[in-house]
Amino acid sequence: MVPDEVHIEIDGAFRAIDSAFTLNRTRYAEAARVTSEPSTTEPIVDVQGISHSYQKGTTALRDVSVKIRQGDFIAIVGRNGSGKTTFAKHMNALLKPNSGQVLFRGKPVSRMKISEVARQVGFVFQNPDSQIFCETIEDEVRFGPTNLGYGKEETERLVAEAIATVGLKGLEGSDPFSLTKGERQRIAIASTLACNPEVLILDEPTTGLDYTQERSIMSMLERLNKEGKTIIIITHSLHLVSEFAHRVVVFKEGSVAFDGPVRDLFEPKNEDLLAQSGLALPKIAELSHRFGITALSVSEFAAFFDRRES
Ligand code: ADP
Repeated sequence: MVPDEVHIEIDGAFRAIDSAFTLNRTRYAEAARVTSEPSTTEPIVDVQGISHSYQKGTTALRDVSVKIRQGDFIAIVGRNGSGKTTFAKHMNALLKPNSGQVLFRGKPVSRMKISEVARQVGFVFQNPDSQIFCETIEDEVRFGPTNLGYGKEETERLVAEAIATVGLKGLEGSDPFSLTKGERQRIAIASTLACNPEVLILDEPTTGLDYTQERSIMSMLERLNKEGKTIIIITHSLHLVSEFAHRVVVFKEGSVAFDGPVRDLFEPKNEDLLAQSGLALPKIAELSHRFGITALSVSEFAAFFDRRES
């Protein structure tokens, strides 16, 4: 349930906007068309009907199929315990399915060496501190590529590039634990990036970060995505999904309840699905529904309107 005061805020905002601006439907239709065009390229990771039960007997995944394509920016969402992490861990063979299979560029990951899969599909775990164990940032970031057998020169290049990408240049010799949580999250991302994977999976990369830190991590992922990396994030922050991801997969009790463009998920017809999956519609989507559209960010929403002639 949305509290009354929020309704009042949205009511007020709706009236204020409605009196001063008009919706440009052509501009909206164009944006909505672009974001719902399905990708037709061959999948990089093709998850085919996987099921997974843990030893204790919990069935965490039931017949899950998802195709990940080059350049995707996917958010995986759903209640705690709905199977998101279990699913993600199958993509780089950290877990094996009881049935079904995962293909990487057409090849079953079960037949690839763990190091080969790790080179292609990088995984940044939920708590950066569980991933950090070296005394300097540089040693930490160097660990992955060294272990995966990259040559010395290549390793140094990848390490320098990864540290620069995450914005920690100049701090190479610092102790990771002298930094903020947001910076330690960047180290964890750099450590995975330095292995130069095609696909980067991040399990709740913004948990525990403040607004500025979370936006800065998301903008960095957006830049990496534009440079060609395929990004998959597990998250509970629907406002970030709305603004940054292109596609969203909703997990519900171990199954995929929705897989499609972010805008489609936030349309009024999916209200029940969102509620059943424990997901609250972002406020900007809620406000935009009053105008008969679904906007994904405040700046996008504003761009759909023209000032009324006075
Ligand atoms: P999510 O990432 O959506 O929170 P998980 O994939 O972590 O969901 O968990 C899915 C289900 O599997 C839950 O019921 C959880 O308790 C169970 N589970 C997760 N990891 C283990 C494990 N190592 N051993 C036994 N059960 C587990």
